[in-house]
Amino acid sequence: MYNRKKIQEEIPEAVTKIWSCTSDDCNGWMRDNFSFDQTPTCLLCHSPMISGEKMLPLIVNMTDQWKLSAAVTTATAE
Ligand SMILES: [Zn+2]
Repeated sequence: MYNRKKIQEEIPEAVTKIWSCTSDDCNGWMRDNFSFDQTPTCLLCHSPMISGEKMLPLIVNMTDQWKLSAAVTTATAE
């Protein structure tokens, strides 16, 4: 039952800043990769978005790479 290791365990997850759609009917969200000057709107339904957090695997685009490598280093040091 629990003796089979999932390969996902090798991928650390981190709380990542995101923007999430305020519409209950929409699951739209985006990574907070950018320095938004104002609240973005959802690409799917054009509702306003609010900043939030989401647990995401540390597989990211190059923009976030330096942040996450720092996070991993910190976690390993502990
Ligand atoms: Zn939406």
